[in-house]
Amino acid sequence: MPGGPHIRLLSEAVINKIAAGEVVERPASVLKELVENSLDAGATRVDVEIIAGGRKLIAVSDNGSGMDRDDALLSIERHATSKIRDIEDIERISTLGFRGEALAAIAAVSRMTLTTRTADNEIGTELVVAGGVLQEVRETGCPPGTRVVVRHLFYNVPARRKFLRSEQTELAFARHTFLLYALSHPEVAWSLRVDEGEPWRLPPTSVLLDRIRDLFDDELTDRLRPLEWELGPLHITGFAGVPAIARGDRTEQYIFVNGRPATAPLLHHAISEGYHTLLPPGRHPVLFLFLNLPSEQVDVNVHPTKREVRFRQPGAVRDAVIAALRAALGAPMATEVITRPAPQPAPPLVETSFPWIEARPPGQAPASPAAQLPTSTEPVPRAPWRWFRILGQVGGLYVVLETDEGLVLMDPHAAHERVLFERLLDQMRKRQVRAQSLLVPEAVTLRPLDAQRIRNALDDLRKLGFSISEFGQDTFIVDGIPSCLGAVAAAPLLTEIASALENIGPRGGTERLSEETIAQAACKAAVKARDPLQPQEIQDLVQALAATEMPYTCPHGRPTLMFLSFKDLHRKFGRA
Ligand code: ADP
Ligand code: MG
Repeated sequence: MPGGPHIRLLSEAVINKIAAGEVVERPASVLKELVENSLDAGATRVDVEIIAGGRKLIAVSDNGSGMDRDDALLSIERHATSKIRDIEDIERISTLGFRGEALAAIAAVSRMTLTTRTADNEIGTELVVAGGVLQEVRETGCPPGTRVVVRHLFYNVPARRKFLRSEQTELAFARHTFLLYALSHPEVAWSLRVDEGEPWRLPPTSVLLDRIRDLFDDELTDRLRPLEWELGPLHITGFAGVPAIARGDRTEQYIFVNGRPATAPLLHHAISEGYHTLLPPGRHPVLFLFLNLPSEQVDVNVHPTKREVRFRQPGAVRDAVIAALRAALGAPMATEVITRPAPQPAPPLVETSFPWIEARPPGQAPASPAAQLPTSTEPVPRAPWRWFRILGQVGGLYVVLETDEGLVLMDPHAAHERVLFERLLDQMRKRQVRAQSLLVPEAVTLRPLDAQRIRNALDDLRKLGFSISEFGQDTFIVDGIPSCLGAVAAAPLLTEIASALENIGPRGGTERLSEETIAQAACKAAVKARDPLQPQEIQDLVQALAATEMPYTCPHGRPTLMFLSFKDLHRKFGRA
């Protein structure tokens, strides 16, 4: 802030109150600290450069307040900050930084150049620091604001350098950090330049959705519902993704507390609760959640990276988030709610298009042509019933069966997932996977972290029958998918696989990866809950499900079947 407070060394008493620990773990953490400083300095434009995944160079330039020569010299000292002074200040932090340690910590493990000028100074200051030792201080001409260039991170700490991942992985982390801060401050003009290519520019905007649209695709933005909720001084805004675009992990939950990318276990619980009944267990919605509340209501001094926050009134925050989500996902959403189908017009009394289809118990004489289907004559050891007949479909979704033991409801989507899953797994184990080429190869662009996961799994995916190649940055060309998947769009499939990969982690092994990939693939390829099904298709599906090894759940663990036994019925009708 121009003319704002100068930098001072914190007292021992304050230092002891601050969550201590290392903040420079990898290039992305350097980027985070530099960008936070730019935002705290009131910058309205921030330009970021990354070379070689940030191992070679990370640079952040801003048009913020800048520093005079004395402040610049102090800024690289440990526990030197302009943002807090006394112990009480820790209780109400309104800036992103406050520990006064980042620049010192970065300078200690790199070659850092800091160039800065305030608006009232004609001439700027440039510092060169290497391994924490000040090498040079000089006057320089430069625009108002600050530019920090960090070269050769960890050049003097080989042990830490060894822990860095590949350039691409580090770049993916850094780009994710960039994305988080670009989201948190749409009013700032951002640019990102990678490996000296063309900078990617994000124009400033007062409309969050515009920024989201610039960072993501329309497919995502079209599936967001606005969030708006107030509870006293707590203000919640943002967007909630419809259940249909939920994922298997929390990667696409962007949560900000007073402009700071943040996590809090409490918020995760509130989100699950807000989507309760809209999502099966293990699925996480896409979410852009912005909480704003008085700074004394939030404790950011929990962890050195300041990522985890605590609320002074957790109950109120939790309730407000749940209420905000429920309101956002309210009535107009019904058609997209996957587990609660919209009411359908009642079927005609005589269902002509739906003949009674019967399958007799094995060994019994076939009574109708339908019963001659192959699976009904071979005994299936694990089959959930000895015989069945299809009575129809209710709610435009669930298939109703009568079996030897009672009444059964089947979710055709979940059932189809199970069938495809086992079929694919079987082909995989027998190494019979065949690829079907797509008529039109699909170019799929993924989010940085997703892209990195897919990149790391390319070999395994190819073994599964995907024909997929890299096409620069985060784009992949898919021109073949495993043939047993049928017609399925590549983009949502790859996103699902990426989130599955995140969940199994790098040590899951190929077998686990295959299973997860196949489960995701099966899910995407399975009939949609609302797809109308022909009687013959239902018949085939029921028989195929009965022949699977695990007919009772889909590969994600959701039930495929629900039983109401005759025994139960008799008891309920008092006939026992
Ligand atoms: P903190 O942000 O916790 O105060 P840092 O080590 O990150 O600690 O920065 C130390 C001080 O240097 C800040 O308090 C701020 O006064 C000054 N500073 C750092 N970066 C910038 C910047 N980009 N523009 C203006 N001042 C800055
Ligand atoms: Mg800082």
